[in-house]
Amino acid sequence: MLNIIMCGAPGSGKGTQSQLMVNKYRLAHLSTGDLLRHEVATGSELGRMIESYTSKGNLIPDELMVSILAKHIDSLPSDTPGLILDGFPRTVAQAEALEQMLTQRGTQTDLLIDLDVAHDELIGRLLNRGKTSGRSDDNIDTIRTRLQVYEQQTRPVSDFYKKRGKQVLINGMGSVDDIFGRICACVDAL
Ligand code: AMP
Repeated sequence: MLNIIMCGAPGSGKGTQSQLMVNKYRLAHLSTGDLLRHEVATGSELGRMIESYTSKGNLIPDELMVSILAKHIDSLPSDTPGLILDGFPRTVAQAEALEQMLTQRGTQTDLLIDLDVAHDELIGRLLNRGKTSGRSDDNIDTIRTRLQVYEQQTRPVSDFYKKRGKQVLINGMGSVDDIFGRICACVDAL
């Protein structure tokens, strides 16, 4: 299996680049943000609980997130060639849980791609997305919290994989195609 983590701040282009990767490498796309928004849209009690975190820009608790993700990994066909993890792990505890989960399945993370985008550009992209996304978290106050949460809780995840020689920092500024080209060069070299 080829397992790739797409990491980067909110607005760094994880979702866009993950979709291109899925099309090119035929990997299964697991976007935890999408999974959570789907649960919220059902109006379930779990969805309401999730929304109390996501609407403020905070992460949902690790245990809950890991159990939701594990259920989805378990439901994938056994011949799945690999995973694109988009928005997970976002804490070191999630990274540890992920590696345990993958080890139990006889596999591991091959690469974490960290998309590097300037702070002002991130805010501009997210505000712009907010005009059409309908996402309750694409507003300036929540964006600020999400960027802070990213620095405090998610940046250490990139370091976790860097220490293991499995992280690559990619310049996430420029055209979607140029960024995708940089990513493919790293994946093809694996
Ligand atoms: P995203 O679409 O990836 O920006 O995620 C939207 C929101 O969902 C985040 O701001 C968090 O509130 C929540 N979320 C997504 N992924 C995770 C995760 N791995 N751990 C905890 N919360 C998450």
